[in-house]
Amino acid sequence: MTELNINLQATVDFLVELLKIPSPTGYHIEAIEYVRKAFEALAIPGLDLKITTKGALLATLKGQANDARRGVTAHVDTLGLMVREVKSNGRLKTNPLGGIVWPTVEMEGVTVRTADNKRIRGTILTGNPSSHVNRNIFTAERTADNMEIRLDAKTKDADETRALGIEVGDFIFVDPRVEVSDTGFIRSRFLDDKAAVAAIYGALLALKDAGLQPAQDTAFLIANYEEVGHGGSSGWPFELAELLAIDMGAIGESQNSDEFSVSICVKDGGGPYHFDMTNKLRRLSQAHGIPYKTDIYIFYASDGTAYWRAGGDAKVGLIGPGVDASHSYERTHQDSVLHTTHLLARYLLES
Ligand SMILES: [Zn+2]
Repeated sequence: MTELNINLQATVDFLVELLKIPSPTGYHIEAIEYVRKAFEALAIPGLDLKITTKGALLATLKGQANDARRGVTAHVDTLGLMVREVKSNGRLKTNPLGGIVWPTVEMEGVTVRTADNKRIRGTILTGNPSSHVNRNIFTAERTADNMEIRLDAKTKDADETRALGIEVGDFIFVDPRVEVSDTGFIRSRFLDDKAAVAAIYGALLALKDAGLQPAQDTAFLIANYEEVGHGGSSGWPFELAELLAIDMGAIGESQNSDEFSVSICVKDGGGPYHFDMTNKLRRLSQAHGIPYKTDIYIFYASDGTAYWRAGGDAKVGLIGPGVDASHSYERTHQDSVLHTTHLLARYLLES
């Protein structure tokens, strides 16, 4: 059996830096550039890097064969907010980017990015948030309509806020609050799907360290529009025979996934993934002693399905690290990142 060494430390280090870079859907430039530079620094012979017209990063690696070319995708875009209204009290009403769960962002720090790229800090709060003033605060519904951004700037009306350079349509970055514990847990917003981007980085590094080429020409698409449903639907440089999407495994009641294995998603809201791919992924996990969990995600879709819906004809599969409290303050364990990275590397090498 081929020896493979996964450099977990380098993979987690890459992940932590990526988590700190804001990348709500529609504002991908900084994160894509970070990933591009990191892939470039791997100095892998034959790895071709380009940015697609839509702004995704496309990394193409020559394989030992090209008769059944493959795609691998993970997304760098995350949830976020946009300024919807500059309110008469100087605060901001927001509109969500992706499926924000409002109670989970209450009291979170944010950065508003103005059109001329100034950054202004603030906090997401419910309107009239002081419990000494408003007794309804305990039970008030948390929604886009009654939550607002309190800016850390001296402003009391809409004119003063606009004078800061803030306008409708500006991006608002929600703080990720990244923390890595000495017990191996990684706690942060937006592990979906930056943990999977890290797995691609780690798998490329493992192949490079072992001096190995993938079995087939393989295109890696670091997508930038998954959270709104069309990330992996375009940008592929060639016809794909197989597509492996890497996205988080959802953990919760009735779920099989956990933070210590790689999740193999057999079916999600878009229907079952391809039988051959699911079987291959399960077989590879067993052959290489990789802890895995098969699972079904009912309220979930991936860029694999986006690709299919756009007319793609490849066999599509989906794996990923188990992420607790998805689209909230998420958590995974480095074990899950390790096993996802390992399974991806084995998939790349498998003819
Ligand atoms: Zn995702």
